[in-house]
Amino acid sequence: MTLNRSWVLARRPEGAVAVSDFEYREEWFIAPELAEGEILVRSRIFSCAPTIRNWLNAPGRSYRGSIGIGQPIRGMAAVEVLASRHPRFSQGIRVTAVAPWQDHAVLRPDEAAVPVTAIPDGMDTADAMTLYSPNSLTAYFGLFSVGEPKPGQTVLVSGAAGSVGMMVCQMARIAGCRVVAVAGGMEKCRWLEQACGVARAIDYRSADVARQLKAACPEGIDIFFDNVGGRILQDAIDRMVPHGRIVLCGQISAYDAGRPAAGPADMMKLVYGRIRMEGFVVGDFADRHEEAMANIRAWAGSGRLSCRVDLREGFMKLPSAFADLFAGRNKGTLLVSNPEERL
Ligand code: NAP
Repeated sequence: MTLNRSWVLARRPEGAVAVSDFEYREEWFIAPELAEGEILVRSRIFSCAPTIRNWLNAPGRSYRGSIGIGQPIRGMAAVEVLASRHPRFSQGIRVTAVAPWQDHAVLRPDEAAVPVTAIPDGMDTADAMTLYSPNSLTAYFGLFSVGEPKPGQTVLVSGAAGSVGMMVCQMARIAGCRVVAVAGGMEKCRWLEQACGVARAIDYRSADVARQLKAACPEGIDIFFDNVGGRILQDAIDRMVPHGRIVLCGQISAYDAGRPAAGPADMMKLVYGRIRMEGFVVGDFADRHEEAMANIRAWAGSGRLSCRVDLREGFMKLPSAFADLFAGRNKGTLLVSNPEERL
């Protein structure tokens, strides 16, 4: 007999998410009879992603399916298929999927909003959740399809030391752009300059960002890849070149704020600047994943693209790791592993 542990939503966070918003549960695990199209999985690695924070809000304030009180938290995970009644996912393979924060779960791949994807043989499970994860695809499509970079242009990236941001910085360098980054703290800024080829990294916690941007982007910003929103978005708008592009990837500064993400203070700056400000979600580009992955593999293979990974060990660490995202305590892509335990 083994246990099935889970983390469920205890209450909806008021402002900053706290460990006490989650409740730990365990019950004996009895392998269920699978219906046609179902797979039984054992979780191996969970990805802590800011977007989960939106699913903790009440239905009216959640962009994609609010999690009910008492329901398991869900998020991207690498899982092992223990049993299958699905023709494409055989027993023993590993897949990435949106899965509950549980040891064991039954998934229905054909009904999944995010495609269930087999991890290729020989690929390290952690690599599938980092370098070759949806976050790298997010960086790729946001930068190349929405931002449309040209060599020599200046790209500003907010949330630059995080999972999506560090990929954008490196990809923009690969595209021949000059990259300016905004991140929290000296350590992250130094790392961006030394490891990601960023020309200048601004610590938004200690610097006057507007002033620093003026110095770092004397000819203006061609593309702003925004993961954060709020004050940084406003400061960037003030320095966009005519016909510049603002890629709206996320607005993490608003996720814990208890109110909707605010827009620019002065829309006329976008009018006179002929600025294009465009949101996107990575799922929009599902038919081009192979093209993106081929490029990502080639860049990683030639040493031009790498991923900083913040790996925490142990299922019990999930809520505290998740809360760390909103305090900037993660250094790179934040994963929580779930090693086999003797129960
Ligand atoms: P991440 O950047 O690895 O982690 C979050 C980081 O955000 C933290 O390390 C922190 O870095 C920063 N942060 C947290 N609260 C902040 C605040 N109030 N103000 C400024 N910075 C703050 O997370 P990620 O998974 O790569 O996600 C980054 C963004 O991409 C999120 O907005 C997410 O929603 C978005 N996203 C969008 C898509 C899409 O399809 N559009 C897909 C995936 C992710 P510092 O230490 O630098 O503050």
